[in-house]
Amino acid sequence: MSLKRDKWDAVFSQLVRERTNWTCDYCGRFFHHEKQKLHCSHFKSRRHKSTRYHPYNAFAHCVGCHRKLEEDPHEFTMHANIIYGEMTIDRVARLASIPVRLKPWQMDDIYQHMKTELERLQELRAGGVTCRLGFTLPEWYQDGITYRMGEAT
Ligand SMILES: [Zn+2]
Repeated sequence: MSLKRDKWDAVFSQLVRERTNWTCDYCGRFFHHEKQKLHCSHFKSRRHKSTRYHPYNAFAHCVGCHRKLEEDPHEFTMHANIIYGEMTIDRVARLASIPVRLKPWQMDDIYQHMKTELERLQELRAGGVTCRLGFTLPEWYQDGITYRMGEAT
């Protein structure tokens, strides 16, 4: 939790909350644009660069659920499996353990991709779309983990 948040974390966090239309992934409560009340929570810690901005390593969690799940890793795993599928979460966990050093061009690519995705999601919201949406990161970063009917391909 002591890791400093950078501009990448900020855009990623916005993406994660737009994805659920500001709804907590765990309790389902709605927190429209209440940034202090709805957090972007990571299944595998932000310490792991390989999954720090991975779409399937993050959830929108209200303050209460965020705390509860951090204190109960078993429940967090069960919840993550329900949201993204067990195979996807296994792969995210494996990916997290792989050390990576991201080059400046890679960080730029991640940032630009996230910005474009955020604009796309915000346009859909502005157009009245309220359902859960999806977003991607560059293919090379996502490591081929794609969400399909609850399981990775
Ligand atoms: Zn909640």
